[in-house]
Amino acid sequence: DAEVVLVGRSNVGKSTLMRELTGHNVATGKKPGVTRKPNHFDWTGQSFMFTDLPGFGFMSGVEEDAREAIKTDVVRYVEEHADSIIAGVLVVDGKSVIDIIDRHSDAGEIPHDVELFQFLQDVDVAPVVAVNKMDKVDDRDERLNELCDRLGLYPPWQQWSGEGGTIAPITAKNGSIEPLNEALRGHFREAKRDDL
Ligand code: GDP
Repeated sequence: DAEVVLVGRSNVGKSTLMRELTGHNVATGKKPGVTRKPNHFDWTGQSFMFTDLPGFGFMSGVEEDAREAIKTDVVRYVEEHADSIIAGVLVVDGKSVIDIIDRHSDAGEIPHDVELFQFLQDVDVAPVVAVNKMDKVDDRDERLNELCDRLGLYPPWQQWSGEGGTIAPITAKNGSIEPLNEALRGHFREAKRDDL
């Protein structure tokens, strides 16, 4: 089955987005470190799965080695399923993502969002960055270009779609997720074509 994985810090709106994508009330276990079972869904007439992966070192209050163990699990999961995974959706909060990335960079750390993005690229899973909560962002283009910059993508953000990565600004809360749907549809078509 084709599979789409979702990753992202807590509170970025992953549950809200999953509900929008699937029409289901998905329990995206808030408990850190719990690997969730893949959920099967029918989406635009296709049978496939959305898999909500546990935080990739995103949880606060979790010991460093527990964090590393979760990260290892996530990496292994994605590596093992890389053939059926058609896209990796990295959900970020458009309002706060730049500040969070810069704070970690300034502290000499690799920001988790950046690390995850690069990880998806490394395992050849097309990264789709769902930049959520755009209803709270005023300087939309500037913000999205900054995000490109932090992720190592050349601005302008509008040029990013397809295998190299997609920037998909959304407002999950209002159901405005068309740029994400469009990206996923594109990856589906491509996966189908490759099957033939
Ligand atoms: P999760 O922890 O990533 O699963 O995040 P949730 O789906 O539980 O959402 C966290 C908070 O963000 C909730 O208060 C949501 O109502 C809010 N939220 C989710 N999507 C949006 C959005 O598009 N815009 C705004 N302003 N808030 C949102």
